[in-house]
Amino acid sequence: MRPPTRDEFLFFSLPEKALFYIIVYACLGYMVYQIIGRIRLWQQGKPVDWYPTREGRAYWIPTQDGLKHWVQNVVVYILAQKKVRSSRQKSGAPMHLMIFYGFATFFLATTLLAINTYGPIKFHKGNYYLAYEMFVDLMGLVFLVGVAWAFVRRYQNLQVELGSAAVEDPKQMIQRRRWPMSHAAPDFWTLGLLFMMAITGYWLEAARMSAKPEPFDWSAPVGHFWAQLQGPFSPIAYKTVWWFHMVWVFVFFCVLPKMRLRHIVMAIATTAGKSDRPMGQLRTISMEEVEQTEQIGVKLTKDFSRWHLMSTDACMECGRCTEVCPAWNVGKLLNPKQVVQDIRGAMVSGEDVATAISPEALWACTTCNACVEACPVLIRHVDLIVDVRRNLVSEGQLSGPAATMLRQTASTGHAWGQSASVREDWMKGMDIPLCRDNVEFDYLFWVGCAGATDSAAVKTTKAVASLLQKAGVKFACLGKEEACTGDPARRIGEEFLFQEKAQQNASVFERYGVKKVVTTCPHCMNSLKNEYGDFGARMEVFHHSQLLQNLVSKGSLLAAKPPRGEVTFHDPCYLGRVNDESDAPRDLLSNEVVEPEHRRNKTLCCGAGGGRMWMEETPSQRPSNRRAEELVATGASTVAVGCPFCRIMLGDSLKQVEPNREIRLLDLAEMLHDANFKPEEGSTA
Ligand code: SF4
Ligand code: SF4
Repeated sequence: MRPPTRDEFLFFSLPEKALFYIIVYACLGYMVYQIIGRIRLWQQGKPVDWYPTREGRAYWIPTQDGLKHWVQNVVVYILAQKKVRSSRQKSGAPMHLMIFYGFATFFLATTLLAINTYGPIKFHKGNYYLAYEMFVDLMGLVFLVGVAWAFVRRYQNLQVELGSAAVEDPKQMIQRRRWPMSHAAPDFWTLGLLFMMAITGYWLEAARMSAKPEPFDWSAPVGHFWAQLQGPFSPIAYKTVWWFHMVWVFVFFCVLPKMRLRHIVMAIATTAGKSDRPMGQLRTISMEEVEQTEQIGVKLTKDFSRWHLMSTDACMECGRCTEVCPAWNVGKLLNPKQVVQDIRGAMVSGEDVATAISPEALWACTTCNACVEACPVLIRHVDLIVDVRRNLVSEGQLSGPAATMLRQTASTGHAWGQSASVREDWMKGMDIPLCRDNVEFDYLFWVGCAGATDSAAVKTTKAVASLLQKAGVKFACLGKEEACTGDPARRIGEEFLFQEKAQQNASVFERYGVKKVVTTCPHCMNSLKNEYGDFGARMEVFHHSQLLQNLVSKGSLLAAKPPRGEVTFHDPCYLGRVNDESDAPRDLLSNEVVEPEHRRNKTLCCGAGGGRMWMEETPSQRPSNRRAEELVATGASTVAVGCPFCRIMLGDSLKQVEPNREIRLLDLAEMLHDANFKPEEGSTA
């Protein structure tokens, strides 16, 4: 008896084989032709500047270091599907994993088959072959279940969208970007194609067994079962099924670069070559770049980097980014998935990017990075949006309170236009050491614009200062030598105002030899930690919750112990998500926190970031109201925060959404202050 193995091209004559090769090479050629067309479009963009590629070459020829980086990213984000597994879409993740691993198995199996057929060694035999057959056969079932699941999901989503369209004009809904999923006809065709490839693959397997039974056919149980049902096949019937299966495979090759299916290939390229720039770091534009291009930011798609253009082609249109977008969720025009589609469209049409996206949508972004965190193919929507904002600002297209804020920051160094001397008012009666007095200090306590002058934020500032004094931490403040970090200016798109402030602050840090910084504002923290390095200021930067947690763990301070069920915590986007810190705040509250639905790195934005604090807001479209509703739903009587911006936004919203119940809004530091000082030892109020 011959060992178990596969007969290739069973019953095929030479002309039939030749016909197959002609068709398959024609289809592959067409696929490559389309891919070259896309590569030409990406090449309009700027060469990537973060990636160690060989000089003068594009991103696909990395150095040795670069190659390591590629492989690591492919393993983490593609093979292990890290982002998909952590997705909030309950059914979306397992469905995608089933399709992905099923498809990956087919790809591997076909590759092995090709190596066996055309290579010098015939290894497809014996026990290995039996195991191979069993594995591929069963993974086919996994794939089919995943595809069927995707059909059902899309059908259900379509019903929901059609339900909305029944009360609203669908054209208007598209204009207003209210179609988060857009599961239109092409999606069903795509799934139909995958289904037909898999089901005809099983039929082909069964036809082979029916036409030429072997004693080891049991090793492919699904095919074997099918073969038992259909009975014997003639060679002609077998070959008919073979060609029927191949038609779907040929179609697949031809449509791959055109349909959403292209993300199969593009996601590998994009995730492999992604930048290691932290989520919270925006790209620094140089003056040389501006002189060369004679413009700031992005006007046409050629002004984006090649990687960013390529990433828009990797978009699988899953809508995860839109589902989590705080602006979209309160009915604004911003739809991050649509932003990506609009840029992709502008790449082909050559249209002005801001017009393609719509300035109203661009200004609605809070730069909360929820979309970036959710995107399985690592698209950086915030980079895309801020780069276009930079161009709009440079063309004078920003007006209203946000433009006033920029002027104030430029003239006074304070985002609300206060004079520098006011930054020391909160210190009265507190004996706060100042750097200019040449005191020795370990930590620079960076107070921030709100922390120095907003009445609620000042309570946090005073609480932190008292706690640091109590714990014996050597710290000092800059007082009137501190200027706005420039974070709101940068995120609004006024890059060179940010750079001016960063250089000014960096030179002050250098003068005083600052090594460690603690701040109560996650936006300041992010900028100082992730962005000031470009201006020579490299320091360890901590959020106050992190330093206080450290002092609690050393026994220098006591943690707060709120009664069970009474306190909920709102994770600030720039702490919990962008800088990945969500344990320290909870530790300070002895982990006695009633968790809201969105928490930790999946927190829901209060709506203040990205300069939105200084932009007009329609009352019915306040992200902070949506967040306040969630916090109220926890039943807690106290909302703890760790950001002065969140505190300002939620203060109003909590009163609006719960006018009949008094809900306390306190910073973590105030709660810790209460746990460490007796009432007679002074209040932070
Ligand atoms: S940008 Fe990312 S998250 Fe949004 S639809 Fe595309 S792939 Fe999905
Ligand atoms: S950063 Fe936030 S607000 Fe901006 S598009 Fe993404 S999810 Fe929406």
